[in-house]
Amino acid sequence: MDQGQDGGGNALAVPGAQPPLEARAPDVGPVKTVAGGVPAVLSAFKHVLSEAGPWRGGKLVWKINQQDGFDCPGCAWPDPQHRSVQEYCENGAKAVAEEGTQERVTPEFFREWSVARLAEQSDLWLGKAGRLTHPMVLREGSTHYEPLSWDEAFALVAEELNALGSPDEAAFYTSGRTSNEAAFLYQLFVRQFGTNNLPDCSNMCHESSGTGLSETIGIGKGTVTLEDFDHAQAIFVIGQNPGTNHPRMLTALQAAARRGCEIVSVNPLPETGLNRFKHPQEVLHLFGPGTALNKLFLQVRINGDVALLQGLGKALLEREAKAPGTVVDRAFVEGKTTGFDAYAAHLATVSWDDVVEESGVPRDQLEAAADILARSERTIFCWAMGLTQHKNAVGNIQEIVNLTLLRGSIGKQGAGVCPVRGHSNVQGDRTMGIWEHARPEFMDALSKEFGFAPPRHRGLDTVGTLQALHDGRVKVFFAMGGNFLSATPDTEFTARALRRARLTVHVSTKLNRAHLVHGRRALILPCLGRTEHDVQAAGRQFVTVEDSMGMVHASRGAVAPASEHLLSEPVIVARLAQAVLGARSKVSWLSLVEDYDRVRELIQRCIPGFEDFNRRVRERNGFALPNGPREGRFTTKDGKAHFTVHTMPRHRLEPGQLLMMTLRSHDQYNTTVYGLDDRYRGIHQGRRVVFLHPEDVKARGLTAGQKVDLTSHFQGETRVAREFLVVPYNIPRQCAATYFPEANVLVPVDSFAEKSRTPTSKSVVITVAPSPVAQALVPASPSRPG
Ligand code: SF4
Repeated sequence: MDQGQDGGGNALAVPGAQPPLEARAPDVGPVKTVAGGVPAVLSAFKHVLSEAGPWRGGKLVWKINQQDGFDCPGCAWPDPQHRSVQEYCENGAKAVAEEGTQERVTPEFFREWSVARLAEQSDLWLGKAGRLTHPMVLREGSTHYEPLSWDEAFALVAEELNALGSPDEAAFYTSGRTSNEAAFLYQLFVRQFGTNNLPDCSNMCHESSGTGLSETIGIGKGTVTLEDFDHAQAIFVIGQNPGTNHPRMLTALQAAARRGCEIVSVNPLPETGLNRFKHPQEVLHLFGPGTALNKLFLQVRINGDVALLQGLGKALLEREAKAPGTVVDRAFVEGKTTGFDAYAAHLATVSWDDVVEESGVPRDQLEAAADILARSERTIFCWAMGLTQHKNAVGNIQEIVNLTLLRGSIGKQGAGVCPVRGHSNVQGDRTMGIWEHARPEFMDALSKEFGFAPPRHRGLDTVGTLQALHDGRVKVFFAMGGNFLSATPDTEFTARALRRARLTVHVSTKLNRAHLVHGRRALILPCLGRTEHDVQAAGRQFVTVEDSMGMVHASRGAVAPASEHLLSEPVIVARLAQAVLGARSKVSWLSLVEDYDRVRELIQRCIPGFEDFNRRVRERNGFALPNGPREGRFTTKDGKAHFTVHTMPRHRLEPGQLLMMTLRSHDQYNTTVYGLDDRYRGIHQGRRVVFLHPEDVKARGLTAGQKVDLTSHFQGETRVAREFLVVPYNIPRQCAATYFPEANVLVPVDSFAEKSRTPTSKSVVITVAPSPVAQALVPASPSRPG
């Protein structure tokens, strides 16, 4: 079955589901060797000034990540205890500039632009159209969105939800931007409505981390704090590109490198941000060579990480055998763990030949990395999606845990595990109960506090929601933020799935592709941004978020809302719940959102760790949530940390096939495209590129700059993505890399990680063939109406 054709008479393709082909080829220039510096400063200023203007933009940048300001809506990297006056990175500035834009998407805009015409525009164009100003509805059979009142909007959702045969016929998605207060109310509403169908963006990114860590150390979160980076002797950064995705992490790495901490990075691509860094605020260093970060770079094959990590474990055990008591932390292993013998026995059966072949890393480099691990008493392991989006992703995470346990490098200062989260409150949303299978204790607390019986059966995650929408089991899809269509795998499948819904609803700040591939009826509910004042009956409100390291702190908007018609997310949830549940709910929804302190009081009564929430969150830096493993108390059932054994994955590609991963460009955050450049990798003015090893280019008879089509292969199915420019690049043989969301169409919906069900967006088997000549190109995007 051919799942992914993009037109050409194939009725399965959904118009507008994918970004249009590019009218001009991207420019390919030299790869940069230093991150940050003057170009980062200029880029930040350019975006802030051009989008938000000097007045609004100036006000915004002074308040990013400040104690009296707002939490950056970008990534979840934590803030230092002592903050500088400008505590943000280039990409944080871009995120804030996008939200602070002076452009507006008004009812007049929608009158002029039909959904079909909007769907022909690029993601960049849609994002630059501006902030949504009014609630809008797309009525059945209509070609244009039209305004409606908030009351009408909530009544429409209530009508559809209350007409369902079962609450499980609705799914309620959450993106990682949603505040703790909104998330808590949202999951409460959804559970009072009667379902656990709470898919979220975590399902697509760090679910594998949560699963892998929960099983082995008893908590699905990292164990380190930002201060631990000041004490680590070694830091491993695996499957992560912090220069683009968590840029302020480079500040912590720079400080670590300067005091002699050894940094090892593991990636299929050598990423500029881990090579050298010039801190944009160190004026005296801006014109120097920058700080070298990497002590060692291991260029692993895509999904060669289990092999690599097992090789490191094997090398450590070999050193221990030669000098007993010098490498394995025996006291820690015997006192605090189980499973060491089975782990060691398994590694004894693993051959070095297999390790080297599957990881793609020469043995001498693995030994050098093992030396660093062996001499470091305090090691931090950081990772991101390079590890989590594979079939064996949970195994990847658990092999890291094995190494930390072997060295006793967890539960003490300067050591531990650090999954680096991508969206600013993705971790907090999970803490608030946005989870399709929340723990029984959490459900018990809801039941006790609110006097109802929450559903106990497992709900749908993201992949489950896609499948259920596709086969008609889910009929109403509600998204609290995000760009579900572009974030999810298998774009055409997702588009068909959304098309089958009776109603699709998106709570959004800006226009995106998910608004344009809709159900029979569709709503856009415009909300306040994180940067904006939120005034309710009790006065100006703040919300709270949890960063990647479990710190909870306040976020206060700094500028006037983009439109007087916007509602905050907590208010949207409260009014929705009131409209849908009516007398069925005993919760005083509207009173709760008059003063968010009242919501926080409920949170503190239901979720351990939030005691005295309203007082502690007003302290200067907020507070840390409890984290047993951070203090050496493993919160598994037996109170021990667990070594685990994993079979090394084998990658057997057919002749001509490649293993492809999706990645982000520098001018992008998640699905939001800020611009068309990927400065560090030398790509400009375009996004449809495929990075290939020069020998793989030659072996296929291709040339640099040639246009190719990519075909993915999974269980006899093929999916096609058209017209990608070949870019010879420093990437291992038989590997390929492309940007998402353009390449999401190639990721099969049924291909996901064992246990965590995270889509395998970094393990896609593809072939590459020249694009047919003279394929019709979509015309360049017209400018928005004046
Ligand atoms: S590192 Fe992340 S949270 Fe910090 S300013 Fe940059 S994007 Fe925002």
